[in-house]
Amino acid sequence: MDAKLKVDGGIHAYQIYLRHEAQIELTERLMSLRQSGTFVVLSDENVARLYAGDFVKGMTEKGMDAHLITVGEGERSKSLEVATTVYESLVQLGADRQTVLIGFGGGVVGDLAGFVAATYMRGMPFVQVPTTLLAQVDSSVGGKVGLNLPQGKNLVGAFYEPEFVWLDTAYLDSLSDKQIRNGFAEVVKHALIGQPALLDDLEAEVSELKLGNTAAWRRRLRTAIQVKIDVVQQDFRESGIRRSLNFGHTLAHAIEASGDFHQFNHGEAVSLGMRAMLRLSVLKGSLNISVAHRSEKILDEIGFPQLELGMLSDETLNFIKTDKKKNGESYRLIFLKSLGQIEEVTYTWDELKLLFGSLREHPTLET
Ligand code: NAD
Repeated sequence: MDAKLKVDGGIHAYQIYLRHEAQIELTERLMSLRQSGTFVVLSDENVARLYAGDFVKGMTEKGMDAHLITVGEGERSKSLEVATTVYESLVQLGADRQTVLIGFGGGVVGDLAGFVAATYMRGMPFVQVPTTLLAQVDSSVGGKVGLNLPQGKNLVGAFYEPEFVWLDTAYLDSLSDKQIRNGFAEVVKHALIGQPALLDDLEAEVSELKLGNTAAWRRRLRTAIQVKIDVVQQDFRESGIRRSLNFGHTLAHAIEASGDFHQFNHGEAVSLGMRAMLRLSVLKGSLNISVAHRSEKILDEIGFPQLELGMLSDETLNFIKTDKKKNGESYRLIFLKSLGQIEEVTYTWDELKLLFGSLREHPTLET
């Protein structure tokens, strides 16, 4: 299924290459980006051990001036402290504005590499090599890069686009079921908000997809990514339609934060947020109940948790107050009107609390 998808509408156009087991071609593509000069691969400890270490060795064997910088795995590496250590390593390696930085890993590495690339010497070229399903279907596309502050996620960042994105489905082989689920939530979201036919395909192949069967993912990834491409091309800086990608994310962030980011991973929290918004879309009278039932059934089959009353407690909802997507005292929520059709509604804090609170009285869709 080799394919090339173009992303335009931002600062510069770039390609996403969809491949399977094609590391040699990646090396060649990097060589054609820069005939000479330095390449720095930024990875985390897991991905360095699995893939990036050997990849850098292969580049060196081909005579390229290639180096590896490794950071710890996990969200904690998306910090100013870790970014500083990466800047310092770049200085030590003699990196300049021509040096290509390659973010080789999941969404954490991609966001960190992109932020460092946007800011080191006021900008250096970078390449995204996403290795998790979440990074392949979501975070590597669209040019958002950033870091967390102790006060919240992604509070520092930039819009900065890669030279290209290299999406090799062979990397999915080593992901745990939990990591596959993490990305699967965004794939379901893309189907709901932008590609109803994809929902049919996900339903048909859910048992293979949830096990991370790469052949099954090769058939579906392209359509799922295209939804994100279509949205970011229309609204690169998120002043309108790009906000539709936040479907389910307001409650999800609150659930993640209230569990101190350990209880649920992002995808699990997004699935819970989507369950809430599907039910609220029905209660509001805009969505047919059968669509909500169908969508929740697929979330059940993937193995996502059920929405519980405690997840709608005042204590959890209060975390929404620090949501960076709020606008002054207004909170925007994305509802589903029908498959592929969304509606954005703005609420005050009191209205929003009442709205989510109403789900406590209607915990299921049988009301
Ligand atoms: P992650 O990068 O932490 O990766 C998850 C785990 O999988 C890590 O332990 C990692 O070492 C491991 N891993 C990565 N690739 C692997 C592979 N092929 N085989 C085995 N293990 C592998 O997390 P993630 O879920 O990929 O990304 C989450 C981050 O993405 C969050 O920080 C989130 O804010 C960000 N994000 C950004 C955007 C954006 O538009 N920039 C969009 C969505 C999410």
